Order: sequence, then C-alpha cells, then structure tokens
Amino acid sequence: MRLFKCSRCEQVLYFENTECLRCGSRLGFFPGTLMLEALEPEGDAWRSLDGPPGLHRFCRNAEHSACNWMLSADDPAPYCRACRHNRTVPDLGIAERLDAWRRIETAKRRLFYTLLRLQLPTPDPNSSDPQPLSFDFLADPRRGPKVMTGHDNGHITIALSEADDLARERLRIELGEPYRTLLGHFRHEIGHYYWDRLVRDAGEYELARCRAVFGDERRDYGEALAAHYANGAPDDWQTSYVSSYATMHAWEDWAETWAHYLHMVDTLEMASAFGIRIAPDVADDASMDARLAFDPLQVTHVQRLVDAWLPLTYAVNSLNRAMGQSDLYPFVIAPAVIGKMAYIHDLIRQQRSRPASGGV
Ligand SMILES: [Zn+2]
Ligand SMILES: [Zn+2]
Ligand SMILES: [Zn+2]
Repeated sequence: MRLFKCSRCEQVLYFENTECLRCGSRLGFFPGTLMLEALEPEGDAWRSLDGPPGLHRFCRNAEHSACNWMLSADDPAPYCRACRHNRTVPDLGIAERLDAWRRIETAKRRLFYTLLRLQLPTPDPNSSDPQPLSFDFLADPRRGPKVMTGHDNGHITIALSEADDLARERLRIELGEPYRTLLGHFRHEIGHYYWDRLVRDAGEYELARCRAVFGDERRDYGEALAAHYANGAPDDWQTSYVSSYATMHAWEDWAETWAHYLHMVDTLEMASAFGIRIAPDVADDASMDARLAFDPLQVTHVQRLVDAWLPLTYAVNSLNRAMGQSDLYPFVIAPAVIGKMAYIHDLIRQQRSRPASGGV
C-alpha cells in the first residue's frame, strides 16, 4: 500500500479516506490508476481534479458506506472492480451484519489493491473467463454447522463471524495461532485461487516445479487434515514452513506462503512510502540496516525483499512491544521459506510479463 496526496490541498491521504480532512473534498479511489483522488461534483456524477479524465460515479456499495471506489459514469456495471466479485453479502438490514460486512469490504479492497498492483488476473463473474473469482460473505445459520472460511474453485467464502474481534480472537487463541485477521484470510484464500490458475492450469511442467518446492499436492487432503488435527505439526516445522498450519498439506503450505508474500510486499511498499530507514546504533555490522525507498513490486530477486523485510520486522516488533502490543509480524522466515517465496515471486513476475490471454 502507498500514501496518497489530495490534489486540491496536498494533504496526505490514506487508502480508506473518503473525505480530505483539510479541504473537505470528497475522495474516490480509481482502480485503473490505483490512485485516491479529490473529486468535484458535476451533475449526478463526479470529476477528478487530477486523475482520470471524464465523468465518474461511485460504486453502488458507497450507498452503504462500504466502498469508495469509482467507475466511469457510462460503465453499465453498478459495482466497482472489487465489489462486482461479491456473490453473497449478508442481510444489510441488520445493523451488526452491516458493520461486520463493512470491515470485510475494507480488508477486501486492500487485497484487491495488491492484486491489481501485482497485475494478477481478477476476472469477475460477468466475464467470459472460465474460472471467475467470486465471494460469499456469510453469517452463521441459526441452526446447523457454522460457516467455514475457504476456497472452492474460484469461490471464496469468508465467515462473517471473522469480522467480530471477540470471536476471531477467541478462535485464534484456541487454535494456537500467532496471527488471525480478515486481511490474512483473504490473502490465504486467494492463494488457493492462484494455485489453480498459475500452477494447476499451467500444465505438467509448472506442476512439477511447484511440487519440487512445496511437495506433492496429490496427497489425500482429508487424511492430511485429520492427521494434522490429531498429531499437530512436526516439532521442527519452523525450519521448513512459515506456520504450523502450512505443514498440513502442500496446498496449505502454498496458500500460507502466498499470504506471507503479500504481507511482505504490501507492508514494504507502505514502509517505502514513509521512507523508513533502519540503522540500529548497537549493531556492529550492516545486517540489520535497511533503507526502504524502493518499489517492492519491481524487485527482481526475492532476497532483496527479505533483506529489507527482516530488519523492518525487528524494528516494528520492538516498537509494538514498547507499546505493550503483540508483535506486528510474529513469524520466523527460515531459508527454506525464502526458497518457497522465491518461487511465488518468480511465478507472479512471469505471469505479469505474459500478454493478457483474453480471458482464457
Ligand atoms: Zn484536500
Ligand atoms: Zn465497490
Ligand atoms: Zn487454505
């Protein structure tokens, strides 16, 4: 994520802002340019002061204060680039559910920002793509089993209860997880979607390359799940995996590593936007130094990202501890995990250099 600037008064703006706090301008996000822009009303529509030309309007979800993304005024679609993937949203007449859904949408837009930055394909259900991406945001039924967050063939389900801080934190503690957030769920589940697209659908050669890094995904998933919940992760999991859940099955290792890759590039982008420099006086060599003033999406080798990421996490974890908070990044990245991230990094770069396939 980056910082933005009001084109009318130069106030620094943040991704979620809907109004400039200095000059009062209404703000809208333009997914085509990935910029937040100050707007002026013109009839029923809006004109951006400094951004894409022409008239624009807000996504229909702006009516629920759930979206600040823009569309061209003559776009026949009611919803923006991120919201047209929603297949099911909760009953918005129930105040609690509306509030929970807004939080989910906030996390989802951050996910989409990074996907669009990485130029990953995000076909919506109205496109001709055979594997569109869609979302169900579901409240638990009164009776019967609870909603499970997960991915199935392009459909991502997020349990609405994950937007409830108390419920999510209780689950996090029960499951012994160091980190559980809505954005983390999105980044993990979208990882499964891109495994289908970038690995499975790329054919045998890519599958073999992926298996060499993450192991064989043909292992029975149900058995792997049962074994994981019965026996837990192996004692030395931290030497090869980014989380204990990643040990469960090659698919989960992929999705966990994918999520961490997105955590890393997005957070590095924001650190670079702030021009953060890490140079601790007490360190007797430069291994903890990092000057964050580069675009992580343009970096060729993943090691450069990791070399900046580790000092940044040491610094921010220490800041959090100074405030009595838990670590921002409560994970260890072992060399084997860097190898897995390198594979994902290269695959995303490869995909970006490929011409658009026209939805095939
Ligand atoms: Zn302003
Ligand atoms: Zn929207
Ligand atoms: Zn998963």
